[in-house]
Amino acid sequence: MRLKELEIQGFKSFPDKTRLTIGEGITGVVGPNGSGKSNISDAIRWVMGETSSKQLRGAGKMEDVIFGGTQTRGAMGYASVSLTIDNSDHRLDMDADEVVIGRRYYRSGESEYSINGQSVRLKDVYELLLDTGLGRDGYAIVGQGRIAEIVAAKSGERREIFEEASGIARYRYRKNEAERRLAAAEGNLERLRDILGELE
Ligand code: ATP
Repeated sequence: MRLKELEIQGFKSFPDKTRLTIGEGITGVVGPNGSGKSNISDAIRWVMGETSSKQLRGAGKMEDVIFGGTQTRGAMGYASVSLTIDNSDHRLDMDADEVVIGRRYYRSGESEYSINGQSVRLKDVYELLLDTGLGRDGYAIVGQGRIAEIVAAKSGERREIFEEASGIARYRYRKNEAERRLAAAEGNLERLRDILGELE
């Protein structure tokens, strides 16, 4: 599995459609301070489902990821990022050699996610990337200050990182989902019992 291409439009300092092809081996991004290097890694993190704007440099709220305009250029109405992943080793549980994850966010607060052109929910992106190291709780992107955060983290939080790395986060997630559904079913049963009680 390898990141192949990133397309950014209207995201942070990238108003125009910008396509970055990521070759094999190590890719370095160089540029002067403030030129948008971190915005590229933020775009990768964001398209994979980052929901906390605090994790994205300089974004107090999610709307701040949309290009806010400059002296010569008006603000954009939405931010859009798409990431192409080489899946020829089929590490992502999809019957496709290439997986394209897309995310778009409008100033109105409306969000859209897609996987290979199909409109999906955030949950689907999360589930697709679970245990791959990518995704919202992934360890593949190590942001500035992240190491210090891990060292200072409470043991429970640190365990979550090891769980993701060792591939058991998927099972914990499924267990939580099953427990949530079970609780909902219990609630429904309770209500049914009440109704039956009233009918008797
Ligand atoms: P450094 O080398 O200092 O770490 P960098 O190259 O990583 O810098 P970034 O942090 O990626 O730079 O980019 C910062 C730039 O992005 C700033 O000029 C900031 O104004 C711009 N920027 C961030 N969000 C937006 C936005 N929503 N609209 C327009 N510009 C934005």
